[in-house]
Formats: sequence, C-alpha cells, structure tokens
Amino acid sequence: MTPHVKSVRLRCALAGRQRAGQHVDVRLTAPDGYRASRSYSVASVPDDSGTLELLVEGLPGGEVSGWFFESAEVGDRLELRGPIGGSFSWDGPDGGPLLLAGGGSGVVPLLAMLRRRAEVAPAIPAALIYSVRSRAEAIALEELEARHRAEPNFSLFLRTTREGEGRRIDAALVQAALASIGSPTKVFLCGSNRFVSPAADLIMAAGVPATIIRTERFGA
Ligand SMILES: Cc1cc2nc3c(=O)[nH]c(=O)nc-3n(C[C@H](O)[C@H](O)[C@H](O)COP(=O)(O)OP(=O)(O)OC[C@H]3O[C@@H](n4cnc5c(N)ncnc54)[C@H](O)[C@@H]3O)c2cc1C
Repeated sequence: MTPHVKSVRLRCALAGRQRAGQHVDVRLTAPDGYRASRSYSVASVPDDSGTLELLVEGLPGGEVSGWFFESAEVGDRLELRGPIGGSFSWDGPDGGPLLLAGGGSGVVPLLAMLRRRAEVAPAIPAALIYSVRSRAEAIALEELEARHRAEPNFSLFLRTTREGEGRRIDAALVQAALASIGSPTKVFLCGSNRFVSPAADLIMAAGVPATIIRTERFGA
C-alpha cells in the first residue's frame, strides 16, 4: 500500500456484515499465552468474497502492527471480534452531503465510506480532507485521486504536513471542502488526537453544528 502500510485480507465469518466505517478487534495469542488486542477499521465494503481488508500501519515497536509487518504469513489464524462501532458508520440511506476528514491511517474508515458511496449513492456530494506527512505515506492515494477525477460529486483535499509547503489543515481548506458539497448532514473525523481535536474545532468554527460530527480517535 505504502512503505509503512500493509493491506491484509482476512477470511472470516463476519465478512460482509460490516457497515462502512466500522472496525474489528484483532486478538493475537503468543505461544506462552500472552495476548494483545487492537482495533482496525475495515477498509473493504461488504461483498461476497468472504474476506475483510484491513490497512495496517507498522509502528516502530508496535506489538500488533509489528506482528502484521514482520511475522504474519498467509494461512496464519487469529481471533477477530466485530464488526464494532455503529455510530461511526455510514450507508447510502443515511444520506449526505458527507464531509470526511482523516489524518494518517485515520483515512481507512473514510475510504470504506467512499467505496460504499460510489457503489450505492454516487449522487450524494462528498468531500475528503486528508492530512498526511507526504504523498508517499498517503494511503490509497492513487484510488482517491482517481475517484476525484472520475466521480463528479466527490472532491479530495489533500494536505501534506512535511512536504511542499508543509501545512496542516486550516480554515481555508475547510471552507473549500464545504463549498464543494454545500451544507453537510454527516461529518466523520478520524485520526490521532492531534489531528481530530483541531479538525473538529475548524469545522465547527466554519458553522457546522457539533451534533452532526462523529469522531474516532486511533490513539497517540
Ligand atoms: C477504532 C480504531 C480503529 C483503528 N483502525 C486502524 C487502522 O485501520 N489502521 C491502523 O494502522 N491502525 C488503526 N488503529 C490503531 C490500532 O488499533 C493500534 O493502536 C496500532 O496499530 C498500534 O498498535 P501496536 O500494537 O502496533 O502498537 P503498541 O505496541 O500499542 O504501541 C507501540 C508504540 O506506538 C505508539 N502508538 C500506539 N498507537 C499509535 C497510533 N495509532 N499512532 C501512532 N503511535 C501509536 C505507542 O505509544 C507506542 O510508542 C485503530 C484504532 C482504533 C481505536
């Protein structure tokens, strides 16, 4: 996917039951019985493949993401719980316009929403504000840029924090995203605390009511 992000396909009974934006809990058990459990958003939309796609960012020293990066092999078995997170999810009948904002791997549940929207409700206006360190670290950038070009009602607003002008998201970017969709009825924000809190403040300062904003925080 990127040098730091792996796409993982899991064959499991809960595949196909998820709503876009939901996550699963992955539990690993070491030979000595030590257990570690972490949440991962489902990137794929329901289909008949019997599988789920996760996009896992490898963190230095990360117990679970490190296992996916360094040890996992095709055929390994692991425990999964879910799908979880009904309030941070979206489907066509929920409507729009949709304003999405993701930082780093926080884009994963938003990617699932955009994939679902393209399948079931492409007329609903949607904008994605995506903040990443660099283009090389942006998850699914090729797909997102292709959607931006091909889907008349979707716009991508990419901001790189350590490349080019190196800027974080700001009021002007939020205004541009809002101008592309009109008044949103659903807003989903996801990423680290460092991303979600200021993004929520900017979006509310632009006049979006707090009651329609849903947030999900990935930690750190
Ligand atoms: C609802 C939800 C959905 C999530 N979806 C995804 C997803 O789709 N893809 C994904 O890659 N991750 C996702 N995460 C984060 C994931 O659950 C783990 O926190 C992450 O993989 C780190 O776990 P670890 O065991 O590898 O690292 P740990 O062993 O827990 O920590 C290793 C080091 O990394 C730091 N750290 C821990 N978490 C983060 C973080 N999120 N960002 C930066 N530094 C961190 C720790 O402080 C520590 O220094 C999600 C989290 C939540 C709550």
